[in-house]
Amino acid sequence: MILLRTAKQSVAIAGNRIVAVGPEAEALDAAEVMELAGTLSPAFGDGHAHPVLGGLERQGPAITDKSTVDDVVVEIGRWAAENPGDGWIVAASYDPALAPDGAFDARWLDAAAPDRPVALRSRDYHAVWCNSVALRRAGISADTPDPRLGRILRRPDGSPLGTLLEWHACDLVLDLVPQRSTEDLVEALAEAGRVYASVGVTWVQDAWVEPALVDAYLLAVEQDRLLFRADLAQRADPDRWRGQISAFADNRERCRRYGRDLVTARTVKFFADGVVESGTASMLDPYLDVPHSHGMPVWSPAELAEAVTAFDAERFQIHVHAIGDAAVRAALDAVERAQGANPAWDRRPVIAHAQVVDPADRPRFAELGVIATVQPQWAQTDAVMTELTIPRLGPERAERQYPFATLARLGTRLAFGSDWPVSPADPLEGLRVATSREWLPGERLDVAQAIAAQTAGVAWQARAEHEWGELAVGRRADLVCLSGDPEHTPLGDITVTDTWMSGRRIYAALTLDPEVSRCSPSEE
Ligand SMILES: [Zn+2]
Repeated sequence: MILLRTAKQSVAIAGNRIVAVGPEAEALDAAEVMELAGTLSPAFGDGHAHPVLGGLERQGPAITDKSTVDDVVVEIGRWAAENPGDGWIVAASYDPALAPDGAFDARWLDAAAPDRPVALRSRDYHAVWCNSVALRRAGISADTPDPRLGRILRRPDGSPLGTLLEWHACDLVLDLVPQRSTEDLVEALAEAGRVYASVGVTWVQDAWVEPALVDAYLLAVEQDRLLFRADLAQRADPDRWRGQISAFADNRERCRRYGRDLVTARTVKFFADGVVESGTASMLDPYLDVPHSHGMPVWSPAELAEAVTAFDAERFQIHVHAIGDAAVRAALDAVERAQGANPAWDRRPVIAHAQVVDPADRPRFAELGVIATVQPQWAQTDAVMTELTIPRLGPERAERQYPFATLARLGTRLAFGSDWPVSPADPLEGLRVATSREWLPGERLDVAQAIAAQTAGVAWQARAEHEWGELAVGRRADLVCLSGDPEHTPLGDITVTDTWMSGRRIYAALTLDPEVSRCSPSEE
């Protein structure tokens, strides 16, 4: 038994569990006492993220932190020189606000890589910027019509500019890119684990899983290289979802058998729409800048309801990406339909993002038991918000974004997710925005509410509220030590100093012991 002790707290852990808290913990006979400077808190969960994409981004080329188009192009040129040959250059993720209207020109990349194909994904992963070789290889010309689910941005003469929006347009190029090997994906997951351990996250909803990624997760478990627990949300494709049901169930069963309590696959992901910054989020009223456009729903509302009902009948948890107010309504309607059609069960459906919610739909989250898994880091006025989002929405709808406090007041269960690598993985960054809300201060949450959304709220989404998310006897010893007390120290000044998962310390800011960062968590 180990006693963790701060100035005000004592927590005793044995094996992978918390066995006593406070005076009861002090009364036990500890084999080891660890004095900590800081505040112990339950470890964080991340209710919506893409760890493998985050890990792959860190393998380079490093374009995610670049603040001008020139800097991105220079980095691609540098990487091309260091990795000569004629193979694809693939990278993520560039800031779509770096070019007016998010419209990036293939010729800019041609300057860095004239002879080999380049495909870069935008920060929101809903757009691809590619060079002229990539456009040619994909056969995209002035004669190529826009696909059903996507848009090819064009020059005045109709020829492709170099920016592709949404699924079927992006896939024209991405389908040509060689697949990553399972080993590469495992490496990315291992890297993601190091990042998560350093920011105190021990459970993650992987919110977009294609079949190859299930294999990678299970291999990472087998090789003892996964430093976090994850539930996998397998993506339902609107063109072939009926044929996916049995494969998803098989993957769920494989993870139950071989996931060693680290990996489950109980969730199905639906993209209901795109993103406001590309004008592809599905809106009830048209966009201001393109007055005939309501965006680009990925599913018709009827088909979404049918698919959600079918996967719900198979006892999959539903996780819908819905950003525009029409997409949010379609997602709520789909959940309502599934509840009416299928027998009662503990379904815990999730709507992720909920960026613009029509006032009439706000009470429906609580009424239907829908968890709002939201991204607090998005609720601020960065360049994407001021240059792309607000001009497309107009001032009135812009004020309806991210109604966290309103949803909470109406009884909605909130869970926080980073959407990493769309935003940084560090929950403290999101907690800082959620509790300050310099923009739209009426939607500010108090510190306790915000921390609950990052801990117990995500545990509820994970169906693990009796397992983790609270600092209490019997819970898993998934803990973080924070450098300051969030109730008394500005969140922007706090960092994670230590992380424990299942009783094992997997991160320590002050030790350089390589054994600490290599973890195989103890299990029951
Ligand atoms: Zn996402």
